[in-house]
Amino acid sequence: MAKSNLFVNGSEGDKAIVLGNEAIARGALEAGIGYASMYPGTPASEIIAVLDKNKKCIENLYTEFSLNEHISLHGAIGASWSGIRSLCAMKNVGLNVASEPAQFLAYTGVKAGLVLAIGSDPGAPSSSNEQDDRWYSLHTYMPIMEPSNIQEAKDFTKDAFDVSEEFSFGIVLMAPSRLCHNAGVLRFGDIRDRKNIKGNFKKDPENYLNLFSLAVKNHAKYLERNELLKKYLIESKFNKIINEGQSKIGFISSGVIYAHLMEAFDILGVYDHKILKLGFSFPISNELIKRFFEGLEKVVVVEEAEGFLEFQIKKIAYETGFKGNIYGKEFFSKTGEITLDDVIFGVSRFLEKPLPASFDFASKKYKELSDKLPQRSGTFCIGCPHRATFYSILKAVGFSNTEEKERDVVIAGDIGCYTLGLLPPYNAMDFLTCMNAGLSIGQAISNFDKNKKVIALVGDSTFYHSGIPVLLNAVQNGADILYIILDNSWTAMTGHQKTPSTQKDIDGKPSANVLNLKDLVKSLGVSYVKSLDPNSVKRFSAQIKSALKEPGVKVLIAKRECILQEIRRNKSLFKNDAKVAETGESLYEIQKSRCVKCSECFVELACPAIILKKDEDNGGDYYYIDPASCVKCGVCYEICPNSAIRKVEFDLKSEFKLKKGLPEAIV
Ligand code: SF4
Ligand code: SF4
Repeated sequence: MAKSNLFVNGSEGDKAIVLGNEAIARGALEAGIGYASMYPGTPASEIIAVLDKNKKCIENLYTEFSLNEHISLHGAIGASWSGIRSLCAMKNVGLNVASEPAQFLAYTGVKAGLVLAIGSDPGAPSSSNEQDDRWYSLHTYMPIMEPSNIQEAKDFTKDAFDVSEEFSFGIVLMAPSRLCHNAGVLRFGDIRDRKNIKGNFKKDPENYLNLFSLAVKNHAKYLERNELLKKYLIESKFNKIINEGQSKIGFISSGVIYAHLMEAFDILGVYDHKILKLGFSFPISNELIKRFFEGLEKVVVVEEAEGFLEFQIKKIAYETGFKGNIYGKEFFSKTGEITLDDVIFGVSRFLEKPLPASFDFASKKYKELSDKLPQRSGTFCIGCPHRATFYSILKAVGFSNTEEKERDVVIAGDIGCYTLGLLPPYNAMDFLTCMNAGLSIGQAISNFDKNKKVIALVGDSTFYHSGIPVLLNAVQNGADILYIILDNSWTAMTGHQKTPSTQKDIDGKPSANVLNLKDLVKSLGVSYVKSLDPNSVKRFSAQIKSALKEPGVKVLIAKRECILQEIRRNKSLFKNDAKVAETGESLYEIQKSRCVKCSECFVELACPAIILKKDEDNGGDYYYIDPASCVKCGVCYEICPNSAIRKVEFDLKSEFKLKKGLPEAIV
């Protein structure tokens, strides 16, 4: 958001450049929400983060980063039943965790409006799969709205609360990563008066005691409400039929793909076909589609993923006796993100209309050049404690980044920053599926393959999300496994939301109710539990080795705060506190004369601050620590087998006066 105060105070007519996620949050604010929650997940995290950041200036707003999506959606339902408009956000796979409350919500209905904003992730750039959550609505009956641009993201969210209250459904607002993280101009509307946001829970046993025959009754009731909503959607502003001309060809689309389709028509110079823009992609009224079918012989459904719209349209075509042909996935991929180019190619193929020469040339050139561009793989931040953890694990199990050999230890991955350990050079994960699968799948592997030791990894946020029962299960069932909790005290990958482990916020303010993770693990019945600093790699590696020799469930907590948060806090303390400024400065340096280029720091640890430089004197090359990138974690200093890395300390009080060691250049 360009100006955070505009997010809170902007009114009708104001404009700002905002992210799609911020537009959704603003829409919820305009609608008068009193509750906002989520378990952080890319691409949706900023929806709640922007509300949370500004909550001190927003009257009567409760925000919560819940421990998981199941809890978060329950919280939103409780707020709605108390008469408070509520927004719950999550990423696509989050709905798997929240599927139980999503399932009963149609039965019980809502009181105040409830919107579930889902950040979908076609192409899975930040998820373990690219599931299309729209399919859930075939059984949860949650209506789905799909905004196609930043303005609609705000407007649809605002309107969704009214529709939610009118038909007593929680409404899903589906936003793919391209919309969540795109920025564009937003026109603001007015914010509802916030003074009267007060909870008042009224008993409603017929709806809320949803079991036995009442559940069956409620089932019938929501089917009726669904039919009423379908009728409403025939004439609503959300679904639009465009170009009702003479063409016998029609296109149906929704969301961001609709925006691509309109652009594709412009590029191809196609302006005469009938178009149905679905703002609601569920439910879809037979009557609306029948109207659209009138005069058409061919209909093309343009959408991402496996054809949720196409499935519904074909069913309606059958029910309404449409005699034409319906196409979709023959022209557009079922997998990956559908780009504007994909839509242009698909439409051009379907209409047998040649591509404009300029577009054809540009796309061929792009393909040719993209093959030549160097590929960049993801990696840990410089100084990330997870790098030290993976280094220690690989050392402990006798595995090297430079050797191609089979490990006799299975390493189970999980979801978080540390997932990056699966990438080269570490290649340190044998499987990775979903939140907290590492320990439970690993437990079964250790039961059946007695020749291999199993190490399961988990981050602190993922452990608190749903790992506690998984660990309890391992203990109760006598598993033989080493469980390493990488506790960096933040939900770091999604923008550094707090976890129960967070000791201090980045202003240095201590957190309330900090959990003692070691005590928690002990209380679950684990007798072998140790907490260590992963940056002390030799000690940590030795501890992993000895833990692997012990029977039963062993837990090692790799406890060190995320380096980014540590740096941010130190920067603000450094700025504000003269005493901190006096404590001096240091740097790490590789002494050319002692370095034998064993590659321990460069290849095994693979810290990106260590680079290969050309030696102007002899034309060879040498390893060098880039002082502008190095964050002085000291891990390379500890692991160098030849003591070639040294720490040089400065006293900042007298400019560049050395406290210890001399840079080799000066020697
Ligand atoms: S670990 Fe030490 S000796 Fe080996 S390459 Fe790095 S600086 Fe040189
Ligand atoms: S001290 Fe070494 S390992 Fe740590 S950031 Fe600097 S170069 Fe990298």
